[in-house]
Amino acid sequence: MINQKYHALLNHADITFEAPASNAAIQVNDAATGDALAWVKTHTQAAVEAAILRSQQAQAAFKKLTTLQRADLLMNWYQLILKNQEDLAQILTAEQGKPLAEARGEIGSAASFIRWFAEQARRVEGDILPSAQAQQRLLVLKQPIGVTAAITPWNFPAAMIARKIAPALAAGCSMLIKPAEQTPLSAYALEVLATQAGLPADVMITLSGDAVAVGKTLCESDVVRKLSFTGSTEVGRILMQQCAPTIKKLSLELGGNAPVIVFDDANIEQAVKGIMASKFRNSGQTCVCANRVYIQAGVYAAVSQRVIEEVNKLKTGDGRVDGVTQGPLIDEEAIAKVQAHIQDAVSQGAKVQAGGQRVAADNTFFEPTVLTDVTQAMRVAREETFGPLAPLFRFETEDEAVFMANDTEFGLAAYIFTQSSARQWRVGEALEYGMVGINTGLISNEVSPFGGIKQSGLGREGSQYGIEDYLEIKYMCLDLSE
Ligand code: NAP
Repeated sequence: MINQKYHALLNHADITFEAPASNAAIQVNDAATGDALAWVKTHTQAAVEAAILRSQQAQAAFKKLTTLQRADLLMNWYQLILKNQEDLAQILTAEQGKPLAEARGEIGSAASFIRWFAEQARRVEGDILPSAQAQQRLLVLKQPIGVTAAITPWNFPAAMIARKIAPALAAGCSMLIKPAEQTPLSAYALEVLATQAGLPADVMITLSGDAVAVGKTLCESDVVRKLSFTGSTEVGRILMQQCAPTIKKLSLELGGNAPVIVFDDANIEQAVKGIMASKFRNSGQTCVCANRVYIQAGVYAAVSQRVIEEVNKLKTGDGRVDGVTQGPLIDEEAIAKVQAHIQDAVSQGAKVQAGGQRVAADNTFFEPTVLTDVTQAMRVAREETFGPLAPLFRFETEDEAVFMANDTEFGLAAYIFTQSSARQWRVGEALEYGMVGINTGLISNEVSPFGGIKQSGLGREGSQYGIEDYLEIKYMCLDLSE
């Protein structure tokens, strides 16, 4: 059961702390211990449809607020989130498992998106265009798209929601949010604080329930004018198809298969720090995680050795325990995928240099693992592992590294380590990715455009561009002739 201290933040009609009599609720478990934390209401199709109508009514009034009023409400929310940062982090770690330090960081990141878009709300500007006709005046207005929906994953239960709802509300949209089944409590806690911040009822509605059914109702609704999804490419494809009949605007933040390229001229310690940060944050369960580490032949032995040493220092366990750097994986399926990637690689000649095993059969902790002598023929080269597995590939030339890095249907994030500024530009430009980290393994922040190309998605979140996805452009032509 979740510590009573956090009940105030979870004081929402959809949440109970005792098992409900009916089975119309989802049990949320502690990621580290497996204990029940709470139960959240399952929304039926009728409940989702009713919520969409409430969202529509709320948006009709909300869009009439001035941008300054909306900015102030978002700033109130931002401040409340920071004030409750520790409790929100405890809830997040309980349901998701990541170490508390990372959970605190995620809450800080969620708050930063809300602050950023509070600031951006006042910078949504139109245009006056020069006309070719003397009697005409041509105007461009930007207006909120209307009712929007978001479907979010379990790996960042707070930040993924904030990154979507902040630009939506700043633009004057309302949003219905379907969080991941394993991590709905962070979403509800954010909603509770939104209400305390003075955001009008129903501009944010959290909807838990069967993903397929809730998703279908949101996609098929004519009232919902935009869907923003973060999750797997597989589910992204399904949602895109379901949104086709209503020609819904879509933002898709999908899977990745990030390459890290370490050149002979890299600062080795900087590269190792970058690999560790990118690979092992959230136990390897991030979409921008290093999935393939390409190391040039001249430094392969040295970099591999240092990565193994650093991996051996990581501590796996309950995220609430001091010193723990690696929490549990999200479920048995996640364990099975890491195991399958290791087995496949080893069967084709890769060597396990650290870790390689699950910690115990009755939990979902997995040892941080390093594989050397990995090749493009192995599954790890093509599929996102989404776990604490660092496969180290060897390459000889820059062209070969760029070719292998781009040889994937994904295009989210890539990283390069080199001290040559000419190479930083050349390789940075040649990589077919939406984001490139140069001499760093950490690239996400509220100021920069986050998103992928190819099958990693559509649209950008955060930054000055993020709000555009929640706005429609209206052109007005005035004829002045009398
Ligand atoms: P997922 O299986 O695609 O689930 C994501 C969300 O979609 C969850 O809320 C899930 O609900 C819901 N969902 C699943 N099937 C659905 C359906 N048929 N219709 C409607 N909704 C459906 O992904 P995941 O395993 O949770 O997350 C990991 C994936 O997300 C990875 O591929 C990762 O790279 C990607 N990701 C991308 C980014 C990015 O910004 N590009 C960020 C984070 C994660 P339930 O939980 O209730 O099943």
